[in-house]
Amino acid sequence: MSKNTKSLLEDAQSRMTDIYERLEVADDSRHRLGQPKRIHQASLSVRMDDGSLRVFPAWRVQYDDTRGPTKGGIRFHPNVSEDEVATLSLWMTLKCAAVDLPFGGAKGGIRVDPKTLSRLELERLSRGYIRAFHDVIGLDRDIPAPDVNTNAIIMGWMVDEYAQIVRRHVPGIITGKPLGLGGSIGREQATGAGALQVLDLWAKRQKKEPHELSVAIQGFGNTGQNFARLAHDAGYKIVALSDSQGAIYNEDGLDPEPILRHKNRTRELKGMVYCSDSVCDAADTEAQTMSGDELLQLDVDVLVLAALENQITDANADQIRAKTIVEIANGPISTGGDQILQDRDITVIPDIIANAGGVIVSHLEWVQNRMGDYWSGDTVAKQLRQRLERQANAFFDLADEKAVPLRTAAYLQGVRRIADAMAQQGTHGYFSDTDG
Ligand code: NAD
Repeated sequence: MSKNTKSLLEDAQSRMTDIYERLEVADDSRHRLGQPKRIHQASLSVRMDDGSLRVFPAWRVQYDDTRGPTKGGIRFHPNVSEDEVATLSLWMTLKCAAVDLPFGGAKGGIRVDPKTLSRLELERLSRGYIRAFHDVIGLDRDIPAPDVNTNAIIMGWMVDEYAQIVRRHVPGIITGKPLGLGGSIGREQATGAGALQVLDLWAKRQKKEPHELSVAIQGFGNTGQNFARLAHDAGYKIVALSDSQGAIYNEDGLDPEPILRHKNRTRELKGMVYCSDSVCDAADTEAQTMSGDELLQLDVDVLVLAALENQITDANADQIRAKTIVEIANGPISTGGDQILQDRDITVIPDIIANAGGVIVSHLEWVQNRMGDYWSGDTVAKQLRQRLERQANAFFDLADEKAVPLRTAAYLQGVRRIADAMAQQGTHGYFSDTDG
């Protein structure tokens, strides 16, 4: 964790000042973007299987909705806090604007270690979240999705709970659903697939072929697994993988597919929502185990961060030896860490473009739900590819033109669109004392 005592939101906000100055953003917009528009909090009471009652704190934070209904995942994790959810909702606001989706940004979370709950306890907790917040989310208001420790199974329970409360089908209220309940083909792979596409575009600009690049991946959940599988198929050499329990390494390369199959098989056998095995249990005998910290310090071409925020900070940034870092996780590098990496000429492909594939396909899922018509995998993949290619190349060009880091270019793009939309809303803010 960072040595400084700034909150995550203050740390995230400190990156914005330079952007406001470069864009000459009006004071009104700076004030509006200075904090979340709405913070909803609830205590979720859940009956445990043994008859006892437990209470879990939960949040839904809607940061800004100037460009459309707010959008963002729901995280289940023991460290979830209002500060973390608010920060993630700011990043969602910037990301949706940066890739030009008609959404604002939100995030949700429950402070829970979900792996200690039975499947039925987890279902009651997930349904409880929707009962607590059903009146503040909505098809044209705020649309949740999966995040850390939530997945299509959990989105299925949530969309069903919402339908029962409002007494009608509203599949577009949540994205990342199972296909049978209105999910979109390609959503589960979208974040990993998008990250690989952005890395491919970057590598092409550096005149590098995939087989010339070694890759270490921190985090082997939904996004890390899909990225690993697709990158391996595309010819990148995956030399290391980690999860919360440890890491494995093989300098000749690892095939993520059997590791993934092993994890999924044990999950299905146990009828579980989560994989309980670590990458270390599934490794073949050729791989050596190492600590998660050692993985971060490997001398590789590409380090992919696909776990949680604040993994590289001013405490460890000087030990990183990768040449390029891809942020699939949201906010895995603190502001202090970022500065050190920049001084050391390590390129960071920032979260708001590297992981935008997920929200881009979530948008496509929402559009399909609204039309009541569903597209083929090819149509979804083509639309994802086109949007991401357009937006990523725009950041890369802007970064070259202004001689700024990729993160600054992405933020410039996002903040400019939000500030323009705020200005286009006119002056009603001068006259109304509430916006409801
Ligand atoms: P997930 O819960 O499926 O997987 C998280 C993985 O990280 C697990 O393998 C876990 O073991 C691992 N992990 C946790 N702590 C770790 C540590 N200290 N070292 C190594 N590994 C660790 O979550 P996910 O959906 O893959 O999300 C990962 C990140 O990507 C999050 O920051 C999330 O906000 C972001 N993200 C997810 C999506 C999506 O579509 N799911 C979209 C955009 C961004």
